[in-house]
Amino acid sequence: MRFHYQSLPMRVTFGAGLLSTLAEELGQLGLSRVLVLSTPEQQELAERVSAELGELSVGVHAGARMHVPIESARRARDAALASHADGCVAIGGGSTTGLGKAIALESDLRIVSVPTTYAGSEMTSVWGLTVDGEKKTGRDPRVLPVSVLYDPELTTGLPVGLSVTSGFNAIAHAVEALYAPDRSPIISLVAEDGIRALVHALPGIVADGHDIAARTGALYGAWLCGAALGATTMSLHHKLCHVLGGSFNLAHADTHTIVLPYVLAYNSECAPQMLAALRRATGSDEPAAFLWSLSRTLGAPTSLRDIGLAQADIARAADLATTSAYANPRDVTPAAVREIITAAWLGEPLQPDGLLV
Ligand code: NAD
Repeated sequence: MRFHYQSLPMRVTFGAGLLSTLAEELGQLGLSRVLVLSTPEQQELAERVSAELGELSVGVHAGARMHVPIESARRARDAALASHADGCVAIGGGSTTGLGKAIALESDLRIVSVPTTYAGSEMTSVWGLTVDGEKKTGRDPRVLPVSVLYDPELTTGLPVGLSVTSGFNAIAHAVEALYAPDRSPIISLVAEDGIRALVHALPGIVADGHDIAARTGALYGAWLCGAALGATTMSLHHKLCHVLGGSFNLAHADTHTIVLPYVLAYNSECAPQMLAALRRATGSDEPAAFLWSLSRTLGAPTSLRDIGLAQADIARAADLATTSAYANPRDVTPAAVREIITAAWLGEPLQPDGLLV
C-alpha cells in the first residue's frame, strides 16, 4: 500500500437547527464584520441570517450567479471592501460558495460557508470563474472556507427535483474519488459512506421533502462526498460535465445525473476497488445500472437531449473533452467519449451487466 494524504484545514459543524450557532462560530474565528452572500432567489434567507447576526453583519449581497461571472465577483468583492468586512458568510449552493471563493481569491477575506445544496464546493479549494463566456477553474488554498456549518433544516426548501440531481452530483464526486490517481484509504472510506448515505436518503426526500431524517442523511452524505472531491483529482466524468456545462450551457446537476451511469459503466472494468466499494454502498452487483435506474425512479431528467444538447454538438463535445490528457482508469479516446455522450444523449438503458449497450 502506498499513498499520500493531506487533510484540508477547516472547521465543520453539523446538525439540525445549528444555524443558530453561527454568531458563536464567527466569534471563535475572530470575525466581527461579515457580508452575507446569497443568490437573488435566497435573499430572504440571507436577510434573516444577517438580522440574526445583528452587529456582526455589515449587510447582504444577493448577487451570486451560476458559474460566477467575473463581473459579479468584482461587484461582490467591491461591496465587501467598501463595507470594511473582515469575512463573508456564503449561504446557498455551489454558486454562492463560488462567489465567496472568488472574493477570497483576490482579497484577505475569510469565508464561512453555510451550504443549502449537496454540491460540495464548500469542502474544496477549487475556484471557478467565467471570463468572456469561458469558465476557468483552479486550485488555491486561500479560497477554502475556514468553517462550514451544515444545518439540514436549511435544505427542506430545496426543490425535490434539484435535491435529487444535486445528490447525484455529490455521488459523482465520490465515484471519481474512488478511482482517483491520488486516492488514499481514508478518502475511499469517506467516499463509500457518502454514496451509501445519499443512496439511502434520496428516496426519503422524494417521498417527503420535509423529512428531516432523510435531509440529514443526504447532507451528511454530501459533506463526505465533498470531502472526497476536495482531496482528490477528478477524471473523465467531471471533465465531460465541465465541457457540457461550460461550453453548451447545460444545467450542472442535471448533467452530472444523466452522464454518471454511462461513465461508470465505461470505467468499471478498469477500477475494481471502486466497483467493490460501490457494490457495498449501493447493495447492488451492478452499480452503474443501479444508479441509472435510481435516477429514473426518483424522477430525474434522463437524457442529454431532454436538457438541451443538440445532436450536432455531440462530436464537438467529445473533441473538447479529449483535447487535454487527464488521469482516468481506462484510456480515454474521442471515439469512446462520443459513444458515451451519444448513449447519454439518447438516455439508453445499460445492459444488466452494467456495460454500455
Ligand atoms: P446553485 O448554487 O446554482 O443553486 C441552484 C438554485 O437553487 C439557486 O437559485 C439557489 O438559490 C437555489 N437554492 C439553493 N439551495 C436552496 C434551498 N435550500 N432552498 C431553495 N432554493 C435553494 O446550484 P449548485 O448545484 O449547488 O451549484 C452549482 C455550481 O457550483 C456550479 O457552478 C458548479 O460548477 C459549482 N461547483 C463547484 C465546486 C467546486 O469545488 N468548486 C463543486 C461543486 C459545484
